[in-house]
Order: sequence, then C-alpha cells, then structure tokens
Amino acid sequence: MVVGCGRLGANLANTLSDIGEGVVVIDKNQESFRKLSPSFGGIALEGDASNMTVLEHADINRATAVISLTNNDNTNIMVAQLAKEMFGIEQVIARLYDPECECVYEEFGISTICPAVLSMKEIDKLLPTIPLGHLEEAIQEDKGDKA
Ligand code: AMP
Repeated sequence: MVVGCGRLGANLANTLSDIGEGVVVIDKNQESFRKLSPSFGGIALEGDASNMTVLEHADINRATAVISLTNNDNTNIMVAQLAKEMFGIEQVIARLYDPECECVYEEFGISTICPAVLSMKEIDKLLPTIPLGHLEEAIQEDKGDKA
C-alpha cells in the first residue's frame, strides 16, 4: 500500500504495478492519480489517509507493506503508527521531512526516509574534494541529542 500519490508515491506505485505486485494507492486529491501510468494495474483510492475508515476501506490489514509518502510528516507518522500497531503490518515506512523526528520513530519499529539526510549523503558523494563527510554524522548526532 502506498499512501500519497505525489511525485515519489506515484513513481513507486507505478514500479510496483510494473513488477506485478498488487498495489493500492491512496491520495486525498483525485487529480494526483493523473501521475499513474496508463498501464497501472492497481487500485487508486481517493481519501484522507489520516482517517482510519479510509485505511480500513483500502483493506490495509491485507497489506504486505505500507509506505506513507504524503507531504505531511504528521500524516505519515499517524498512518505508520496505525499500520504497525492497529493493523499489525510488519513492514512500514514513513517519509519525514523533519530529520529530528527520524530516530524517535525508528525506536517504534517504523522505518523512516528523510530526504534532507539522503540529499546530504548524495551531495557529499558528488563533492569528493570538499570534506563534508562528517556533516551527515553531525545531523545524526544532533538528532541523538534531541531524542
Ligand atoms: P508530493 O509532495 O509530490 O510527494 O505529493 C504528496 C501527495 O500526498 C499529494 O498528492 C497529496 O495530495 C497527498 N496527501 C497529502 N496529505 C494526504 C492525506 N492526508 N491523505 C492522502 N493523501 C495525502
């Protein structure tokens, strides 16, 4: 199940569909489904994913994995926690724009993706002559201090 059919969510949903996985994608904005490819073979469901009825209607309890990729950290956290604790889904991933939240949720068994941290790693790789190497570690340490 993919929550949020934005730039990343639609790409993931299209890819899962292409490799033959059954996929349900939820978005609160019907227009977002225009990003799905014409060959998309999954189910696109309009609704606010922070509403548990919407998740139940999407048969979240049958999902192998739930990946929450809306543009709202609170929604992604809420969906991930519901998926994990209410519906017992083992594989749960939430995108979090705020790097400070990341390690807190990992303690609850929710995997997190933080674009700021990933981007920093990539910038570091692309600038081998500039010693950014420890910046990403610094972000991690900073998060540890605040957790
Ligand atoms: P993007 O920023 O391109 O990754 O897109 C994020 C997507 O998340 C957009 O298509 C939004 O309509 C969608 N979205 C935001 N909040 C919710 C929500 N509560 N429930 C479902 N979809 C949402």
